[in-house]
Amino acid sequence: MKKLLPTSTAGSLPKPGWLAEPEKLWSPWKLEGEDLVAGKQDALRLAVEDQRQAGIDIIGDGEQTRQHFVTTFIEHLSGVDFEKRETVRIRNRYDASVPTVVGAVARPKPVFVDDARYLRAQTDQPIKWTLPGPMTMIDTLYDAHYRSREKLAWEFATILNQEARELEAAGVDIIQFDEPAFNVFFEEANDWGIATLEKAAEGLKCETAVHICYGYGIKANTDWKKSLGSEWRQYEQTFPNLQKSIIDIISLECHHSRVPMDLIELIRGKKVMVGAIDVASDTIETPEEVADTLRRALQFVDADKLYPSTNCGMAPLSRSVARGKLNALGAGAQIVRDELAA
Ligand SMILES: [Zn+2]
Repeated sequence: MKKLLPTSTAGSLPKPGWLAEPEKLWSPWKLEGEDLVAGKQDALRLAVEDQRQAGIDIIGDGEQTRQHFVTTFIEHLSGVDFEKRETVRIRNRYDASVPTVVGAVARPKPVFVDDARYLRAQTDQPIKWTLPGPMTMIDTLYDAHYRSREKLAWEFATILNQEARELEAAGVDIIQFDEPAFNVFFEEANDWGIATLEKAAEGLKCETAVHICYGYGIKANTDWKKSLGSEWRQYEQTFPNLQKSIIDIISLECHHSRVPMDLIELIRGKKVMVGAIDVASDTIETPEEVADTLRRALQFVDADKLYPSTNCGMAPLSRSVARGKLNALGAGAQIVRDELAA
């Protein structure tokens, strides 16, 4: 990126009310068949337009073509039975009824490549595409086949790498893997989680990112955050190994979180997507608040490596709040850009 402080979102944006019920995760589609295909593309174009109007530099699809950031990818794979469900504990936090791995997992055909091509056709700006990371994928399934979290993660890493290579060929500039599970299963992350992430990113010539957060602003997550004490030092566990990894960009949560800002020092040398927008609150940040978070981050990350972003996806918010937050992000980054240029 030539532009200083290029802005982007972590990934998801709210969907229009005519496409899916708003302010809800896993919200069912309101259209079907060809109408649904066209509706998703229209929503994607609106998401691009909202980002463009807010002055966002790296454009995403707002995840308008998927119901959920993990589930939708898995739905396209073979070896997973969505009818056969078991209750498991997700990220050690809440119980959910999840599909079962019943055989060898594979990707019969590309999942998001057509959508990425469609996004590419909408803008000349750099585009970013999000995929779930291997460890976060295994955490949303019951595995009756491999019976090994590590084995299943390696299988998913291979599949993700196939998808990522095709996304790159479709013109994606940054491929981001979402790994909120890294903030929970530190030992596994360090033993094999980061290695499987690198496998997913293997051989890519485009830039790669990993997004590690404290989740959407849903109740299970906000309750969990209340239990984490006054300082959230989870990043401390995985950052040293991520610093040594092949991943180019680390996306993390900062604004309104209790993450000590100096933990960013642990990934010195990497590009850092700094979350300057709180996704767990409907209060829209002022540009000055965004600028303040970015200024504090600049103590620990070089200006040419600072990528202002949101703490996490904004899917569960209302569209007007999300739009306000996008505008604040764009305006706040501009304040600091001007200061750096002065
Ligand atoms: Zn997130």
